[in-house]
Amino acid sequence: MLNIKAFTFNPVQENTYVLYNEKKECCIIDPGCYFPAEKQELKALIEGSGWKPVLLLNTHCHLDHVFGNQFVYDTWGLQLHIHEKEKPVLDFAPQSGLMWQMPFDQYNGPLIYLKEDSFIHIGDEKLEIRFTPGHSPGSVSFYHEAGGFVIGGDVLFNGSIGRTDLPGGDFDTLVTSIQTQFFTLPDNTKVYSGHGPVTTVGFEKMNNPFVKLY
Ligand SMILES: [Zn+2]
Ligand SMILES: [Zn+2]
Repeated sequence: MLNIKAFTFNPVQENTYVLYNEKKECCIIDPGCYFPAEKQELKALIEGSGWKPVLLLNTHCHLDHVFGNQFVYDTWGLQLHIHEKEKPVLDFAPQSGLMWQMPFDQYNGPLIYLKEDSFIHIGDEKLEIRFTPGHSPGSVSFYHEAGGFVIGGDVLFNGSIGRTDLPGGDFDTLVTSIQTQFFTLPDNTKVYSGHGPVTTVGFEKMNNPFVKLY
């Protein structure tokens, strides 16, 4: 069973997630820590808890989700895992940072590509990689069936969905991703989003104004 610790970082209020198991192995997803104090907060919590970081994942590579990749690589030596279709988005992030007046150190380590419909492991626990494009061309979501939750990035929010006006975004693709990859999960599945509070598949099926059930 994986437990979840959430942080909210940077001026865009992005949710960074740390998943950890009983052996204190942990996985860092979308480290959005921008300011030095935020990086130290992440490090202090991980070290103070005795966790051993073993995996670095990005759901997608928009600016607010990648600020801390290099810090995680420098601190714990973890190589970045993304979907291959997200590589151009990652490459564009430094330019985007300058446009938003948030310059940052781009990740300069090796890249490992995630394959959809496969599994990635944190010790004995596994995450299913679901391909959920639409907000970004190579967005993936990480489904932990045993724990009944999915880490969804900016695909589906509590009462909303990800924007589709950024490069590589497409509304119909996003809605299809939600219908086929999220709404097919059990209703009580918790959805941890890239922004805002946790929600559930069942709640969004009933209440989300942007996505029809079928
Ligand atoms: Zn995004
Ligand atoms: Zn975001």
